[in-house]
Amino acid sequence: MLSTKGYAAMSAGAVLQPFTFTRRMVGPHDILIKIRYCGICHSDIHQVKDEWGGSIYPMVPGHEIVGTVIQVGSDVTKFHEGETVGVGCFVDSCRTCASCTQGLEQYCEEGMTLTYNGHDKNGDPTYGGYSSQIVVDEQYGLKIPQALSLEGVAPLLCAGITTYSPLRQWGIGKGHKLAVVGLGGLGHMAVKLGYALGADVTVFSQSEKKRDDAKRLGAIDYAATAQEGAFARFSRTFDFIIDTISAPHDYNAYLDLLKTDGTLILVGVPDQPISIEAFSLILRRRRVVGSLIGGIQETQEMLDFCGEQGIVSDVEVIQLSQINEAYDRIIRGDVRFRFVIDLEASNGCF
Ligand code: NAP
Ligand code: ZN
Ligand code: ZN
Repeated sequence: MLSTKGYAAMSAGAVLQPFTFTRRMVGPHDILIKIRYCGICHSDIHQVKDEWGGSIYPMVPGHEIVGTVIQVGSDVTKFHEGETVGVGCFVDSCRTCASCTQGLEQYCEEGMTLTYNGHDKNGDPTYGGYSSQIVVDEQYGLKIPQALSLEGVAPLLCAGITTYSPLRQWGIGKGHKLAVVGLGGLGHMAVKLGYALGADVTVFSQSEKKRDDAKRLGAIDYAATAQEGAFARFSRTFDFIIDTISAPHDYNAYLDLLKTDGTLILVGVPDQPISIEAFSLILRRRRVVGSLIGGIQETQEMLDFCGEQGIVSDVEVIQLSQINEAYDRIIRGDVRFRFVIDLEASNGCF
């Protein structure tokens, strides 16, 4: 077994602390990755706090991983030693069900193997990217375009694909008015990608604080939702809304901003059930849909698209020892726009 250093939460809501654990030996189809950067997703916080239920401890979070291949198994053909590689939210799936065979591994009928907070096919717990190294089946690794900064690429493995996938699924682009609700990690990627695909993007954020950033990221309009009357001028304006808010909020206020046949796309996952007025949907034949990350093929397509367009995440790089402070700041909405852990610089933190 491979002794590995990381940071873990030992129980629900505990602060993260240094943790040594083992990873499996490199099998014939596996690659061993020295992790260089790992983004911090709000899903890490939800799961550390067990806000969705079923969390497994000790938990080493992290599913926005980029690193260098330092060993390849005997049958590996996709990667070679020294190559840069990405790993996202899952590291395996059944590979044979209708979803897997269509490249929709995230909707695997058997359940995908989560990068952390899951169990692999041997029943062993999986541990994520807040750690020095990871062993992954080559089929679940992603190729990273060369031109992009690695710390900015890491968040594409979750925040990037989670917003790219519904944009593509619903054909969002030129001629569409798109609202992005919540300007955090996912939200800022939705603005960049929506703009790159040609949509007219409006940002809904709680305060005025992010107005200038929203425009810089590609938004043409902005609403500070805590202000009285912020929603009125947008009634029946949008074709699509991507809602990235991580906490309970009023979904009906946003549904009313959709045109007839407009679509509210949920990607944010608050810890409470949501409440929707039937009339918010019925009166204008509106839809509410959800979307979960993206499959391996689509994630590669997104990375290649970002490579062509020069799109990366706006990041604040930290060391592992700053992780608990970073969590507090994310909860306060105080990050522009993704924290990314520099694992090499964190060596002394374990
Ligand atoms: P994040 O960086 O914390 O961004 C969430 C944003 O939501 C905040 O920046 C804030 O935006 C807004 N917000 C937070 N609390 C709010 C409140 N009480 N009322 C109104 N707005 C509020 O989080 P993230 O990493 O982007 O993740 C967002 C959500 O998506 C999380 O629930 C996460 O678990 C989920 N997620 C889903 C998928 C999927 O596959 N569907 C994948 C990854 C993550 P402003 O400051 O602009 O107001
Ligand atoms: Zn995530
Ligand atoms: Zn499957």
